[in-house]
Amino acid sequence: MSVVPEAREASTVPVPEAREASTLPVPEAREASTLPVPEAREASTVPVPEAREGHIVAVSPHLDDAALSASVALSAGGVTVATVFTAVPAADWPVSWWDRLTGATSSVQRQRDRLAEDAAAMTLLSAKAVHLDAAEAQYRGGDPDLGPATERLTDLLAEAGEVWLPSAIGGHPDHAFARDAGLRAAAAAGHRQVRLYADFPYVIAYGWPDWVSGVPGATCLDAAFWLAEQIAAAGLDAASLTPAVTRLSPPQRDLKKEVIAAYQSQAAALKLAPEDLAAEPAKLDFELAWRMPLT
Ligand SMILES: [Zn+2]
Repeated sequence: MSVVPEAREASTVPVPEAREASTLPVPEAREASTLPVPEAREASTVPVPEAREGHIVAVSPHLDDAALSASVALSAGGVTVATVFTAVPAADWPVSWWDRLTGATSSVQRQRDRLAEDAAAMTLLSAKAVHLDAAEAQYRGGDPDLGPATERLTDLLAEAGEVWLPSAIGGHPDHAFARDAGLRAAAAAGHRQVRLYADFPYVIAYGWPDWVSGVPGATCLDAAFWLAEQIAAAGLDAASLTPAVTRLSPPQRDLKKEVIAAYQSQAAALKLAPEDLAAEPAKLDFELAWRMPLT
């Protein structure tokens, strides 16, 4: 995959994607983050001695991603959400572009706010939060060292009956880093398949594709093409993915609204404020994931 076209894509998509564009790392790092992990796949035949059937462990790149993308699955009860990039930046770290967009004057305070928001969201989902304390792209220079996070994830995933990872739609390097760390950990823990959730709201930058919604999209707009291209750009093999579309029931929509509201510092910049949802209720119609074998 070429670096230049992707960077250009990220700079021309709607506002939520600006979050991605603001935090792009050196291009070669991004390339590396989406490479397959053959050595990890070797370990996929290891048994899962302590796995609990049905117990979901979900990996979230940032504080909000898994909960916003897979609220229905994560509300099953007893779910563990392991968030990779949760570190509070150094006291003298300048306020980041994204944090400024969301009205913050201090990235340190904003990250503390987000940690508190995540705790509230996990309470709503009756889920357990685990923070892996890596520094996210806007709070670091260069690539993250995900060795410790991957080790911790391997332990967590060894107890999982189901592993949920981001698919890295939208092109954010942290999402690809988290996914790939999760893939390594899942393989090392003996899993034979994972579920990749469609990163929300990035997946609906152009609305739900017709194959998700079941109705034709807008005139002169092919959201299915865009999503297929995103999957390829994320380094995924579409042929290996089995999609699962969840249509949210009224109670599930209500819960998702509450979860979104819990992440109040992020909602408006993600175009998920109450007025945004009132104007475009279809945003809450579905959640999308894929099953992917690790063999
Ligand atoms: Zn994110």
